[in-house]
This record gives sequence, C-alpha cells and structure tokens, in this order.
Amino acid sequence: MTATAERLGILTIARDQVLERGEGLSEQQVLQVLRLPEQRLDELLALAHEVRMRWCGPDVEVEGIVSLKTGGCPEDCHFCSQSGQFDSPVRAAWLDVPSLVEAAKQTAATGASEFCIVAAVRGPDARLMAQVRAGVAAINAEVGINIACSLGMLTQDQVDELVSLGVHRYNHNLETARSHFPAVVTTHSWEERWDTLRMVRESGMEVCCGGIIGMGETIEQRAEFAAQLAELDPHEVPLNFLNPRPGTPFAELPVVSGPQALQTIAAFRLALPRTILRFAGGREITLGDLGARQGMLGGINAVIVGNYLTTLGRPAAADIEMLTELQMPIKALNATL
Ligand code: SF4
Repeated sequence: MTATAERLGILTIARDQVLERGEGLSEQQVLQVLRLPEQRLDELLALAHEVRMRWCGPDVEVEGIVSLKTGGCPEDCHFCSQSGQFDSPVRAAWLDVPSLVEAAKQTAATGASEFCIVAAVRGPDARLMAQVRAGVAAINAEVGINIACSLGMLTQDQVDELVSLGVHRYNHNLETARSHFPAVVTTHSWEERWDTLRMVRESGMEVCCGGIIGMGETIEQRAEFAAQLAELDPHEVPLNFLNPRPGTPFAELPVVSGPQALQTIAAFRLALPRTILRFAGGREITLGDLGARQGMLGGINAVIVGNYLTTLGRPAAADIEMLTELQMPIKALNATL
C-alpha cells in the first residue's frame, strides 16, 4: 500500500477516483478493497451502490438464458458439470427451434431485454451454426428481444456470421485470472479465450465476459482478474460464485461466504464503474434471498431470470418483485436496441 493510500484509506480514494471521476480502481487498489475487514463491508457496499447509480443509473438489465446444447462438452473446465470428461449427472441434449422460440417468448414476458442462447461446446461446428442460424431467424421473426450467444471459441468467419445474423452481444468468459487459469482448464488456454474476445470486440458486437469466484484462487488473483476484465472493458460482466457440482474436480471446494461474495461484487464494481455487472450462477447458495437484495444495493445492475444452465435459479417473479420493491426499473428493450 502506498503511503497516501494508507493515510487516506482506500474507500476515501475510491470515492474521489471512481465515484467523482469515473476511473476504475487499479489491481493494487482492488486488492486493498478485497482486504478490508468485514466491519467496513456496509460502507463499501454503499459506495459501490453510489458508483453504480452515478455511472450506470438505476435501470436493471434483465436477461434470460437458454441452453441450446447441454452437456457432453469435450473441454475439462473443472467447475463445469457439462464437461463430458467428468461423471456429473448432466446428460447431453439439444433443444429444437420451436422450444428455443418458446423460451425467448417466456423470457420477453418477464420484461427482459436480453435472451442468450448458450451451447456447451469448445466452439461451434457446422451443425451448431445451422441451429443458431435457424433459431435466431425464428426468434427475430416472432419475439421482440435482443439476442446474445455463448457458443465457445469462434473463428473469424463465425464472428462475421453472427454479426450478419444480427446477434448483438457475445458471451465468452475468461473465468478466472490468467495466472490461475491452468489450474482450472487444461484443454485450452486463457489466451485462446482472449483471442475470441478480441475478434468479438472488433466486430462491433457487444462483449460480455466474466467468470467464477471461489475456484481456489487467491485474493491477489481475484484482484488480478478484476484488472484483466477492466483492460478488456466489456459491456457486461457476469459474476458467478462457484456452486460446486457433484462429479466435477471442484466438487469439494468450499462455497464463498455471503460477506466475501458481497465484498467481491463491490470491489469489481469499483474496478468497472460503467459495466453492466450481472448476478449470475451460484448466487442462491452464497447469498440467499437477503443477500440478493444486498447485492442489488452493492454494485449489481443486472440479473438473470429463471433457470440457469444446469441448476435451478430463483423464479423470475421473485426477482422482478425484488426490483419493484427496490424501485429499480427494468431496462427497456428500446433503450438497448
Ligand atoms: S467449454 Fe464451457 S461447456 Fe465446455 S467444459 Fe468448459 S465451461 Fe463447460
């Protein structure tokens, strides 16, 4: 810690740097925030909330996701129950186009502006691209909602095709800090993921990139990850907390505690003042219902409604009700188109 930081305290510095000037915290500064004692948590959450309101406004982006192709992935991401390399109880399955359209309709009915089509693959093959092509066209014809895709690593031709289909956002998570990635995935590299993100960014599609906290990384690596995301500067960051799945190599890892999860969310908000920061998977087991509200008042400004990919999330109605109680309007579709 620098002498100035020690004298002023990191939250005083953050108030001026992030809240007033809109400049995210550096890696070292994020580390100081992550090391704050639990007694400072309320103060930290209040500042993160102020930053979110100042630089993003009160709107909350609501998104639904659907799994087009579930399970049987050849990769070995140690947290993932969809890997075909582990004994997780997730069976490989494909969704047909009418079911995809139905899921998009249900998502739109909750007031959501985003619908993300997800496939458990290393990257799309010809069959998957054909399904996506048909699915996107059918949704666009019948449902008014933005379409995002999450289909793994892409070639330049695939990036170009998604742009021509009108896909407006692409999700590809870096998952964790570069220095921790080899302990999480061995079948591909962090740099390969970064390459896809670079192509997506250059294509004009919005970049959605986040990761999972609680995969055995150190506090220093959490700060490193926040800084790497800040360098990428994605439009949206989905923050997940590990929900250890049976049969995966990370099945026995401890769950991140509620206070630590909230502290991490707030620290990431201070590193990424303008980003859509989304509560994603794992939130129920780390935070529970009460924590979900605290997160919305501690830097988060987007939620996923309904089911996650392999585990059940909170019902959509509960989330929408919570946003109403918090007087946070749902971001309208026309504001994002
Ligand atoms: S590439 Fe995606 S679906 Fe495949 S194992 Fe990794 S996280 Fe799971």
